[in-house]
Amino acid sequence: MANYTIGVDLGGSHVLAASVDESGVIHTRAERDIDDHAPSVVVDTIALALDEVLAKHESISAVGIGAPGNIDPATGVVEYSPNFNWRSVPLAAKLRERYPSQQVFIANDARCATLGEYAFGTGVGTQNFVLLTLGTGIGGGIVAGGRLLIGNTAGAGEVGHHQVRATDGFICNCGKTGCFEAQASGTGLIRHALAIAHSFPRSTLVSGKPEKLGSKAIRKAAEAGDPHGLAAWNRYADDLSVGLANVIAFVNPEVIALGGGVAGAGAFMLDAVKPRVEELTTMVPRGRTSIVTAKLGNDAGAIGAATMARQGGLHNPTA
Ligand SMILES: [Zn+2]
Repeated sequence: MANYTIGVDLGGSHVLAASVDESGVIHTRAERDIDDHAPSVVVDTIALALDEVLAKHESISAVGIGAPGNIDPATGVVEYSPNFNWRSVPLAAKLRERYPSQQVFIANDARCATLGEYAFGTGVGTQNFVLLTLGTGIGGGIVAGGRLLIGNTAGAGEVGHHQVRATDGFICNCGKTGCFEAQASGTGLIRHALAIAHSFPRSTLVSGKPEKLGSKAIRKAAEAGDPHGLAAWNRYADDLSVGLANVIAFVNPEVIALGGGVAGAGAFMLDAVKPRVEELTTMVPRGRTSIVTAKLGNDAGAIGAATMARQGGLHNPTA
């Protein structure tokens, strides 16, 4: 009989709880929307989703939670979460109070997704692996020597905030200029398209309301050969490639998996970045990192959180 743990993927507007077996397969899933960020309301909402899954699995005794922000997996405290406007919220302790029979573990959502993709997706068979999620921002995680890196203050893997255009880039949400996230997330692609829009007066991409422009429309326009879309895409691919080459220089991974909305471009994206990354890879032997599209999609966070629970937390070896 399969042995389940629960993985919870907590986002700013949505929570997914799922029972996951030891092969990384989801059995039961429950989802709730979140429209109030007060810690007690978020805990109540998580509990609604958790109760729905627990009702189907009486034998479960461990829950893992992936949440946005800087989270110390050892204490289970959300030290800082801009998405929720939280500082020092003891989320694991609040859930342990409510579920005394459960072991509760918590870590950053991108680290959880990395663990999931490493254990059951494109990381299988590797020892050195990186997941980058290209969405509204860039989330990341690093596996080195078969272990997910946590870092001194749980910050390892925050590659979204290394600068790739420090002098002429976009201002990042963190306050710096030209962060990888500002240049190469889905939002970054939109910013590239808007920044050069004046050079394409006949472009239909930004006709009307610029705030309605989405990264998918730009990608599709680029794929169809639209000059504005292509110019934005090329700038985007340049910046993404700088960041990828930097990650290779730091981590020398066997595989970098790209997830999130923009990675839906698949081969169109991989064909754009691979030659650029090769050119920027100098001291680390070239051509030894496979850049691929992540496999687990939106479920990576919940599967990884359940995996963390199965392993008894992130402070233990993953392999
Ligand atoms: Zn930044």
